[in-house]
Amino acid sequence: MGYAVLKSPTPFTLHIRCENCMRDSEKVVQIPIGDDVPRDAEELIESVYLESIPFRCQPCGSVIGRLVGITGGNAYGY
Ligand SMILES: [Zn+2]
Repeated sequence: MGYAVLKSPTPFTLHIRCENCMRDSEKVVQIPIGDDVPRDAEELIESVYLESIPFRCQPCGSVIGRLVGITGGNAYGY
C-alpha cells in the first residue's frame, strides 16, 4: 500500500550548567532520523552528537558548560 511510518525520535533535553555564572539552562536536541542514532541518554552521551552541539549561556555568553543531565529520548530519563 506504500504506507510508511516516519517515526520521529523523541527529542532529548540537555541540562547544562554554565561554568561561569552557574546558571542551569536547557537545550532541546532533535536527533535526525537515521541508522546508528542514539535512542536513549546513555547512547547520546557516548555518541559524537554531543560534541557537535554548541553551547552558549544566554545571560553571560560563556561557551563553557557542563552537562548535568539528560531527559527525553525513548527511555532512561533521569
Ligand atoms: Zn553563564
